[in-house]
Amino acid sequence: MSLFSVIVPCYNEEQNVAPFYEELIRHTGFLGQRNMDLEILYVDDGSRDRTAEEVKKLRETDDRVHLLTFSRNFGKEAAMYAGLEHSAGDYVVIMDADLQDPPALLEEMFGYMDQGYDCVATRRVTRKGEPPIRSIFARMFYRLMRHISRTEIMDGARDYRLMTRQVADAILSMEEYNRFSKGIFGWVGFRTKWLEFENVERLRGETKWSFWKLFLYSLDGITAFSTAPLMLASVVGVLFCGIAFLMILFIIVRKLIFGDPVSGWPSLVCIILMTSGVQFFCTGILGQYLAKTYMEVKRRPVYILKEKL
Ligand code: UDP
Ligand code: MG
Repeated sequence: MSLFSVIVPCYNEEQNVAPFYEELIRHTGFLGQRNMDLEILYVDDGSRDRTAEEVKKLRETDDRVHLLTFSRNFGKEAAMYAGLEHSAGDYVVIMDADLQDPPALLEEMFGYMDQGYDCVATRRVTRKGEPPIRSIFARMFYRLMRHISRTEIMDGARDYRLMTRQVADAILSMEEYNRFSKGIFGWVGFRTKWLEFENVERLRGETKWSFWKLFLYSLDGITAFSTAPLMLASVVGVLFCGIAFLMILFIIVRKLIFGDPVSGWPSLVCIILMTSGVQFFCTGILGQYLAKTYMEVKRRPVYILKEKL
């Protein structure tokens, strides 16, 4: 018998825990034919509602349900990491608790695993039901990442992925503190099949991602998987030196020919403002990388467990 682990990160999902369970059970009947056991690992990421109690209720009737609870909210990245670490399955899948990752796809995903893929990933091809501003920024982020990072990061990729134990262990071997899974999945490689599906709206409750949180997360993604912004200072520096050189030539020649008196302090002020602005901007970028390095160097654990059932 082989084992199939389903990891479900939950943060304030009390209304979704039970419906998710029912929907998952309804769509995993095919596991019997595959001689496969199921384990469902809910990771309660420091919820303030009754998420953990709801999972414990499920445990009373089904001992395949397991629960990890965190000492506080550590974020979905930490929850996924903990789930992978505590799962025992030969196959592992990560699914959102809000049923935005349709369990109906699982059977098809296993079909691809049979064809020799190590990993079956999903991406949504529409962003139906999402605020338009958010979609525009998301598209911009992915386009930028394609240019500045060598790691492949798919537009619309979800964390909904079925993988072999080998892939899960590879992901776990990346112990970095600033985790950006979309990049980590791409970085570890392996043969990946992409499945596409239409965006499904969350069952109940609200998304945990505000625009600002997503914006900060995208900066995490950039600093974690690209060092291109660090080049900016050098590029702008060379550019400005070039411009300055041409201007010096121009002024010397003009002086020799026309004997111009000194003038133009407003332009001088503009130039000073602009160059110092660029300098501050570049220092800020440096600061971002330094801050990430600082957090990484501390080697703090990614999460703290409170309970393990
Ligand atoms: N989640 C989590 N910790 C957090 C935020 C979210 O474990 O700090 C879980 C959440 O419960 C859900 C999944 O991550 O199962 C995706 O979150 P959400 O649905 O809010 O994100 P969206 O689907 O809107 O991107
Ligand atoms: Mg969701």
